[in-house]
Amino acid sequence: MRIFKFGGASVKDADGIKNVFSVLEKVGHEDTLLVISAMGKTTNALELVIKNYFEKSNELHSSLQEVKKYHYQILMDLFEDEEHDVYFAVNSLFADLEYFIRSNKSPNYNFVYDQVVSFGELISTTIVSHYFAQAGLKNNWIDVRNFIKTDNTYRDANVDWEKTQQLIAKGVKKKALNITQGFLGSDENNFTTTLGREGSDYTAAIFAYCLNAESVTIWKDVPGVMNADPRYFENAILLNQISYREAIELAFYGATVIHPKTLQPLQRKEIPLHVKSFINPLLPGTSVSKGKDLEPQTPCYIVKRDQLLISLSSIDFSFIMEENISEIFALFHQYKMKVSLIQNSAISFSVCVEDKFGNFNDLKNILAKKFKVAYNENVSLYTIRHFNKEAAEMVEKGKTVLLKQISRETLQVVTKE
Ligand code: ADP
Ligand code: ASP
Ligand code: MG
Repeated sequence: MRIFKFGGASVKDADGIKNVFSVLEKVGHEDTLLVISAMGKTTNALELVIKNYFEKSNELHSSLQEVKKYHYQILMDLFEDEEHDVYFAVNSLFADLEYFIRSNKSPNYNFVYDQVVSFGELISTTIVSHYFAQAGLKNNWIDVRNFIKTDNTYRDANVDWEKTQQLIAKGVKKKALNITQGFLGSDENNFTTTLGREGSDYTAAIFAYCLNAESVTIWKDVPGVMNADPRYFENAILLNQISYREAIELAFYGATVIHPKTLQPLQRKEIPLHVKSFINPLLPGTSVSKGKDLEPQTPCYIVKRDQLLISLSSIDFSFIMEENISEIFALFHQYKMKVSLIQNSAISFSVCVEDKFGNFNDLKNILAKKFKVAYNENVSLYTIRHFNKEAAEMVEKGKTVLLKQISRETLQVVTKE
């Protein structure tokens, strides 16, 4: 079986969905499982609904209307017959969402978040599945929550591999075209969970692992994995082939074209990953596979914006020792701050972190009890893999460098623009 993942950008409007159909016509659709994300920026739009809900804002209704309007426009562009079953199916999903918002009693933000954002994927897959059927392509819509089981860490759930493996191996129809949602799972009590933003690539890898798939293809709005994000770097070039190792490094440092959790399950079973263009589906794109000799021969640039540079020093000039460091890391873990760079000296310790969940203020107060805390907000972390002198100069040009770290293959610079 092949696993295809189509992200938000590929299904952002009616033409996008028609294009996905034409991609399948070109590359085949037998014995294939499609993992599909929410349409366009729907997850962000639903995040706004959740924010308005918790803030009891007057905008709650209008923010939800926006989400509806967007999807009904796509429906009208795809289905002329207003009596088509798809309208009934989507109405009923929106009714479920509104019912949840009206009747929810849980004050747990992360729990509510997952129950609400999941409608993005449920609605998008429902629309795509009906559209394919209308266009004569039989397919099997499956609710991923019956297959991917997780713990109840809402917004960042951990997969229960044993249960998931059993359910997928038993329940997914072989030879057919299956359509399911990315990013979602469910916990022991069957409440919806999510795997972390941009987690649909990971969903594709989970299915591939459990089905021993022949390959995974993630279809993108770019030709494949490039040596830099073409949105920010002119003259980015395509990397035709890279190793799992290189792809993990690039994703870890922040190349958002692949979700970092995607690679490990694939690498364990040596399932090849293809990153291809949904605009030019017959071009080869990038292949990610095993092999030491697949290192790019050119510098690869990665930028992470909106980072925090935190420097901790001891209040009394004592050394920052192992026990301090382990305590600090336990706190970062507890406050869900992802560390992307570490540097330490005798009495100070600096880290560049990402505060995805807005926890820094709370953490800062705790750290301040033991350390002198200095920090810079809104800094950028540039990473260059396979760097050379020109590449380093280019990245630093015109910026204030706050911190720099060099290893054999990788140069990292924290800058303030
Ligand atoms: P999806 O629609 O699957 O969610 P994303 O928007 O998350 O797709 O990922 C595709 C985007 O990743 C591209 O539009 C591109 O701007 C960005 N990107 C970041 N780094 C790279 C890279 N090294 N190579 C190609 N694209 C990259
Ligand atoms: N829709 C989710 C998000 O935007 C998951 C994904 O697209 O991968 O984060
Ligand atoms: Mg995405």
